[in-house]
Amino acid sequence: MATEIEKTDAQWREELTPEQYAVLRQAGTERAFTGKYWDNHEDGMFRCAGCGAELFSSDTKFESGSGWPSFTEPAFAENVDVKEDRSHGMVRTEVTCKKCGGHLGHVFPDGPRDAGGLRYCINSAALDLEAK
Ligand code: FE
Repeated sequence: MATEIEKTDAQWREELTPEQYAVLRQAGTERAFTGKYWDNHEDGMFRCAGCGAELFSSDTKFESGSGWPSFTEPAFAENVDVKEDRSHGMVRTEVTCKKCGGHLGHVFPDGPRDAGGLRYCINSAALDLEAK
């Protein structure tokens, strides 16, 4: 699928840290409770670490207990894409950055019921917080 930002694999490898590359370009998952944002409580906008797109606001971040930063919804629906992911013997819904195609994490239907019921489970390595 074509995205607005198209770079070669070599370019991504050069621009991203190994952790960012593993998540964004190889759909990897950081180990729970190891990323820089799961326990972060600053106000601001979480941008894509690959392209800078505005992805998630701290206003929608909640304590999921999962060890990954968790949000009830994207900051702008048009900035993320979701699609079925049948890897690793599970059926999950993958969340990607619409602008660069980078893998962000998955969305699960077990979020706070008073806020839409979704849990966007996002890797810290895919995000860059622009604190207010
Ligand atoms: Fe991106």
